[in-house]
Amino acid sequence: MKCYGAHRLYSLSVDFILLPILGALLLSFLSVFQKIYIGAYLWRVEAYLFPAFYGSIAGGLVGVWSGRLRKALKRQVKLQKHYLDLFENASDLIQSVTLDGSILYVNRAWKETLGYRDDEVAQLNVFDILAPADRDGCRQRIEMLIQGEELSPIEVSFQCKNGSAVLLEGNISLRYEDNRPHSVRGIFRNISERKQAELKIHQLAYYDTLTGLPNRILLQDRLIHAIADARRFSHFLAVMFIDLDQFKKVNDTLGHSVGDLLLKDAARRLRICLRENDTAARLGGDEFIVILSGFKQLSNVPHIAQKILDALSQPYLVADRELVISASIGISVYPQDGENAEILMRNADMAMYAAKYERGNGYCFFSEEMNRNATRQLELEEQLRHALIENQFEVYYQPQIDWGTQTVTGVEALVRWNQKQGGMITPEVFIPVVEETGQIVALGEWVLRRACQQVGDMQRALSTPLRLSVNLSGRQFDDSLLVNKVEKALRETNFPPELLELEITESILMENADSARDTLQKLNALGIKLAIDDFGTGYSSLNYLNTFPLDRLKIDKSFLVDVMHDDNHAAIVATIISMADTLDLSVIAEGVETMEQVSFLSDLGCKAMQGFLFSGPVPQKELCALLRTGAPFRS
Ligand code: C2E
Ligand code: MG
Ligand code: MG
Repeated sequence: MKCYGAHRLYSLSVDFILLPILGALLLSFLSVFQKIYIGAYLWRVEAYLFPAFYGSIAGGLVGVWSGRLRKALKRQVKLQKHYLDLFENASDLIQSVTLDGSILYVNRAWKETLGYRDDEVAQLNVFDILAPADRDGCRQRIEMLIQGEELSPIEVSFQCKNGSAVLLEGNISLRYEDNRPHSVRGIFRNISERKQAELKIHQLAYYDTLTGLPNRILLQDRLIHAIADARRFSHFLAVMFIDLDQFKKVNDTLGHSVGDLLLKDAARRLRICLRENDTAARLGGDEFIVILSGFKQLSNVPHIAQKILDALSQPYLVADRELVISASIGISVYPQDGENAEILMRNADMAMYAAKYERGNGYCFFSEEMNRNATRQLELEEQLRHALIENQFEVYYQPQIDWGTQTVTGVEALVRWNQKQGGMITPEVFIPVVEETGQIVALGEWVLRRACQQVGDMQRALSTPLRLSVNLSGRQFDDSLLVNKVEKALRETNFPPELLELEITESILMENADSARDTLQKLNALGIKLAIDDFGTGYSSLNYLNTFPLDRLKIDKSFLVDVMHDDNHAAIVATIISMADTLDLSVIAEGVETMEQVSFLSDLGCKAMQGFLFSGPVPQKELCALLRTGAPFRS
């Protein structure tokens, strides 16, 4: 600051003292010189006064002018330094290139980002380091600039010296010299990281992380566009709802990591089956959706569905295991099965359930009948809600007999829905519905309590230790309060635990073997007996069976139906009976309708039976009468 003040004082004294004096001296000298030259007043003072006066004014003016000039020059130099500083230290990449791409100037950020030294930059042509895909576009843009067109920002990819690519976004403009285009300026920002982040966000928002397929959101979007295209070009469009059969079993028995690998492979196979403009998406779990678009006839669709089924049912090599799994496909077609994305997806879903119902590994087209069934199902759900509130249920009992002793040893509690308008409805109609809605938990609890009460009353009235079998559904079994509820029902109805048998199916046991074992052990600890219902229809492994605290196997009635004519079924029944014997379990056959079946079972050593031959399920009062009279053994 001090230094700057001294410098300024010096320039002011030059401008306003020295230059006026010099001016005065110069003019006086010139005037004297002029007089000498023409021979006049050499020593007269006044002859010097006027020239000195004008000289000092002129000197002063020159001083002012030179001061301004110096100032302007200084400002200019300062500005130049300032601009250079801005140019060099800008974080953006700045470049100036000739019209054919030779580099004239680049700033530090440019060199640092792309990794070139000064001497290398001098040899570069910008088109050589532009990504090949961007070169023509850039040449066109320069041409457009020369034509006077205005350009929007551009995105270009440059190749760094180390070979990596950098994505830049910025503007280019022309520099003119002598009214002619001279060079191209460019100012760019490095957007590689931002683009990567955007890509990642996009990937996370629209793609399934496990399989890399589009997720539900992107699927929705693609379907809406595909429908719009189909409408515009009068094409068909098919939506396939694909669900892997028995996938839950893989997850439950082999673990989620194996399940994930299988899903990844299934997704890969799906992609291979499709054309480029078809979409395969994952909805979640083992559910996939395929959109087939742009075809003029529907006859292609079954072929593609079959191709997908074949691809998905090839063995999977996962974690050193060979797994075989099939799929079920439901198909809805635009426009006949729905005009918008929501309806098409819903109808394909419905058709998928129909395909699954047909034992899986197949495809099924949507039909209006399915829609009607679904509506009926909804109505049924609604009616069941009322039935639960109004307690329209009853428990029926079917006797279980011992053929050896010719006695009724127990009864199975079977629920009935006494619907006011529809009469008595069997559980096959409504149990699947209340299982789906979860209402089975409340209903099952009510059945247990009611049966314990009624059979307990009968035991006391008849003084017989009648065993009571009650069915448990999967949902009840998953209820963490199940053991408490059973214990409470027994306590409150004063029912002897050793006379209660709970029936569960094989699939309940196998779906979550560890927690099932835990629950069974707790129930067993209460003194309750445990049986596997419908035995032979599931896939339980003998290894597993041995690890559960079980008491009895119930041979499924489907094997009994034609046991006298079907050698396979006869062999299955015989095997189950001997297996039960080996595992030290009791065995009972259900669905016994004829005396031939009785003899067959009895010869194999199975004396416990249940079936219409003895009695169907009856209300409590009827059961009481039946037990008193010994009716089950009257021929
Ligand atoms: P389930 O436990 O296997 O019951 C045996 C079914 O076979 C009963 O059908 C019974 O009426 C029928 N049945 C008995 N003897 C014969 C016969 O000789 N021939 C033929 N063809 N059928 C016979 P129902 O009462 O219609 O029950 C069907 C299924 O509904 C039951 O099969 C059981 O899985 C379920 N269920 C019934 N009540 C309940 C309940 O309170 N809770 C739960 N979770 N499920 C129940
Ligand atoms: Mg049963
Ligand atoms: Mg059964």
